[in-house]
Formats: sequence, structure tokens, C-alpha cells
Amino acid sequence: MRIKMSKLRSLVLILGDQLSQGISSLRGFDPAHDLVLIVEVAEETTYVRHHKQKIAFILSAMRHFASELREANFNVDHIRLDDPENSGSFTGELTRAVARHRPQRVVVTEPGEWRVREMMDTWSDRLDLPVEIREDDRFFCSSAEFRAWANGRQTYRMEFFYREMRRRTGILMDGDKPRGNRWNFDSENRKRLPHTSKPPERFACSPDAITQEVLSMVAERFSGHFGNLEGFSWAVTRKDALAALARFVEVGLPSFGDYQDAMAADNPFLFHALLSPYLNIGLLNAREVCIAAENALLRGNAPINAVEGFIRQILGWREYVRGIYWHHMPHYARTNALGSARPLPWFYWSGETYMNCLATAIADTQRNAYAHHIQRLMITGNFALLTGIRPAELEEWYLAVYADAFEWVELPNTHGMALFADGGLLASKPYAASGAYIDRMSDYCGKCAYSPKVKTGPGACPFNFLYWNFLIENRSYLERNPRMAMPYRTLDKMPKEQKQKIRQESHAFMASL
Ligand SMILES: Cc1cc2nc3c(=O)[nH]c(=O)nc-3n(C[C@H](O)[C@H](O)[C@H](O)COP(=O)(O)OP(=O)(O)OC[C@H]3O[C@@H](n4cnc5c(N)ncnc54)[C@H](O)[C@@H]3O)c2cc1C
Ligand code: SF4
Repeated sequence: MRIKMSKLRSLVLILGDQLSQGISSLRGFDPAHDLVLIVEVAEETTYVRHHKQKIAFILSAMRHFASELREANFNVDHIRLDDPENSGSFTGELTRAVARHRPQRVVVTEPGEWRVREMMDTWSDRLDLPVEIREDDRFFCSSAEFRAWANGRQTYRMEFFYREMRRRTGILMDGDKPRGNRWNFDSENRKRLPHTSKPPERFACSPDAITQEVLSMVAERFSGHFGNLEGFSWAVTRKDALAALARFVEVGLPSFGDYQDAMAADNPFLFHALLSPYLNIGLLNAREVCIAAENALLRGNAPINAVEGFIRQILGWREYVRGIYWHHMPHYARTNALGSARPLPWFYWSGETYMNCLATAIADTQRNAYAHHIQRLMITGNFALLTGIRPAELEEWYLAVYADAFEWVELPNTHGMALFADGGLLASKPYAASGAYIDRMSDYCGKCAYSPKVKTGPGACPFNFLYWNFLIENRSYLERNPRMAMPYRTLDKMPKEQKQKIRQESHAFMASL
């Protein structure tokens, strides 16, 4: 394709997670002189073996975005994955496009992954052209602002960062005071789901012709990848993502806080928003999502514990993990504070395990390219932490299997929050838990081959002995942490024979993985 234009000024490259008309690279775009380039490249679909739904979601959203841009009078050169000339990489496609269009410069917004940033930094030399890399200002906190906040602090804590973000943005503030006179309503947000509770149906979009075409291509080309395509119902346009947001605010948000940490075998979504894929590829922006939640509070449609709990995830956690990622990469990914080295068990891919909590979380993931936060943290993450899975292997799994997974957000959550591999930079203590926690927050244990009440011996829940074994094995590292004092006091009161049994059963169990 050659676009007719006397002299092309800027070739504006839009990546698959930059599908926002307000993206910085499009600022100042002039249809008379500039051209948008959108490329679907094989390298991005296979550098980890992404869930089929994730690939279909991003490709379909890219195709819809290209048409929306054309309708809005942008000139667009869109290279499809199945184009026979497609070289398969960003660098290859950009080189071909520069040869086709002969622009004076390339403009692009900074990427969400270190790997792509390194690639981007070589483009100017390779192409012998100016390449302007603009800041991604879709976030509340820029990388420079995070650096200024982080510098000089010995430890970071999300809570202090979050309060600063509340003050800076005015979100959930009443003058200089937090709305409801408290910064944090977390203590009210740890309820188990009652049997009588009926969470809303998932907001589902029927695939249109563009999505159908992408689904067929993905089914054929990526048949060996993890996950199902059946039941694909993600929104792929901004219009539908806005409808998903409105529906969540109306029916999910009011109970979001109460059951934020609950898990239920027959309901993988509960009162969660399912908005992260849309936020992460740019169909929604974080500010409009937070404002929609705050407005529900102001209208009296959702209580403060729900709204504060929800906004904390976006204004707090989402911004905080991004700040940590860009401030500490590439060194961050190489830390391994607990020296974890066990290979990832095969059942993470197959779902075949007798542990019902894990089997359910993995089956939900296969079906939906989604599991909610507590499933990711306290089931698949907790098991990997307790059994010492090698961080890079687990990170590859999380990056592959979720529709919302992009390294800037996946890596700190997995490496720092779930595995404590950064030694406590992100979280103040490891999120380690025994079967009692999972039993309290879910209905998984009733249908399990193991019992959360049995600590060792036949039928014992593996999370029970693995939890204490984790504390024993990592004692020299963890006992200095004041937040670990209580579990170590309990461990010290345990009879010696009990500790020996825990060690033996844990070693036998881990050898069988
Ligand atoms: C091991 C692990 C890996 C994770 N990987 C990812 C990932 O690749 N991509 C991703 O977007 N989130 C990731 N998370 C965070 C979180 O689990 C998801 O954002 C959330 O489950 C998305 O579902 P939801 O939209 O229904 O979220 P809700 O529970 O409804 O929360 C609302 C929004 O808050 C934001 N949010 C919530 N928790 C976090 C968090 N810890 N970090 C960043 N944003 C958060 C998301 O944008 C989310 O849409 C991970 C968490 C863990 C423990
Ligand atoms: S008994 Fe243990 S393994 Fe089984 S579901 Fe409960 S926590 Fe999971």
C-alpha cells in the first residue's frame, strides 16, 4: 500500500496497547501531512505463547481502531498479520513502511515493555531518521514523578504513594481531607460470599464480523496456544468498553468492596470489573474510570468502602506497579531474593491437579483468559511462592495466560507481590497463606480431595504443610521482617516432631511436582 501524499512529514506508529485517540503520538496529527501505521506482527503474538483470547482480543481491537481512525479522517496504513509480505517484527515493518512512504520522521509513544523500549531506541540509527519517542501520559503519575517520589526512600509503601496520588488528583478528596474521613476502608472488604448472594452476569459482547474473522485466524494459526476461544465476549471497541464500564458501575461496584477478596467455584467474576484489558490497551482511560466510580458514590449509588476499594486499585496499585517497573528495570526482573529455582509444574498449563483451588483457578483462566486478583495472588501465586517456583517461569505463565497481561503491570505483581522475589521492595511481607485462608475466603475446599483442617498426614491440604515449610526454609531471610514476627512465634511453639513431619511431607510433595 502506498498512500498518496506529496511529502510525508510524520509516520506515526501505534502499538497494540495504544488504542486511544488521545494517545500522545497522535497529538498535532495533520491528515494533509501525516500517516498512521498500525502493524500486526507475529513476534508480538509468540514471544510468549499468549492465550488465544488475548491474541484475538488485541488483534480485533487493533482492526476496529484502524477503522475508527479512518472514519475520524486519519490516514492509516494497516498491515495485517496474514499479509504475505509481513516481516513479523516491529523493526521489520517499520523499515518496510519507511521505504514505502519516505517520511521525514517517525513518531511513537513510549511502549509498556522494557523489551520494546530497547528495540525502539535502535530505530533512529537503523532507519537513519529522527524517531520521536513521546511520553505515555495516559497515567496519573509519570515515570519522572514516580522517581522523584521514590528517590531517597529506603522502602516504598503503596499506601503512602496512594495518599499522595489522592491529594495530587483531588480524587476522593473533600478539600484536603479524604472522603469519608478515612484513606482506606480495606478492613471492611474481606467478606466471604454468602450462599444467597447473586453476582451479576458477565457483561458480554457478541463478536461482530471483524472479530469473527480474527477468531477464525487465531483458531487456525495459534491452535497450540493455551486457552479456549469459545465464549469470547470481550469488548473490542471504545464504545463497548464504555458500556462495560457503565454496567460495572451500576451492578458490580456497589458490592465490589464487600466481596473483593472472596472466591467462588461457580462464579469466576463475582463483583469484579473486568476492565483491566480495556484500560491496558487504551480503550478506557484510568481517569474516566475513577471519576465514574466517584460519581456513583456522590449520587449515593455505591458505598464508600466499595468506591474507595476500587479507586485504590487503579489510582494506587496500578500506578504504583508501573512506577516500580520503570524505576527498577531491567535489574528488577533479575532479582530472586528467596533463591527460588523449581520449574513450573506442568499442571499450570493443563489444569490437572487434585487441589481444587488450583484446578478451578486454572480452568477459569483457560476458559476466560481471566482470573480475579485473589485467585492470581492467593491461589496460583501463593502456591508458586510456597514451593519456590523460579520467578522467570512463573512470570512467563502470567504474561501468557491473561487478556490484561502486559509486562509493566504483570511483572511487579508476579515478581514483587506474589513471589517476593524483589525482597520486599513492593510488598511489606510475602503473601503466604495456608489452607485456612483459602477455606475462609472460598467454597473450593468442600469439593477437594484434601482437607484444610488436616495439617499433616493423609488428606492434609498441601498449603498447610507447605506454608510452615516455607517459613522454616526462608527463616534467615524473613525473620528480620517485623511483620513476620507473629508466624515465627507460632512456629517456635510447634513441637519438634511436628516440624520434622512438615519438612518431610513438604519435600516428598515437592519432589512429586
Ligand atoms: C500475580 C499477579 C499477576 C497480575 N498480572 C496482571 C496483569 O498482567 N495485568 C493487569 O492489569 N493486572 C494484573 N494483576 C492485577 C489484578 O489481578 C488485575 O488487574 C485484576 O484482576 C483485573 O481484573 P478486573 O478488571 O476485574 O479488576 P478489579 O478487581 O475489578 O480491579 C479494578 C481495576 O484495578 C486495577 N488493578 C487491580 N489490582 C491491581 C494490581 N495489583 N496491579 C495493577 N492494577 C490493578 C485493574 O486495572 C483493574 O481493572 C496481577 C495480579 C497478580 C497477583
Ligand atoms: S483443601 Fe487445600 S488444596 Fe484443597 S481446595 Fe482447599 S486450600 Fe486448596
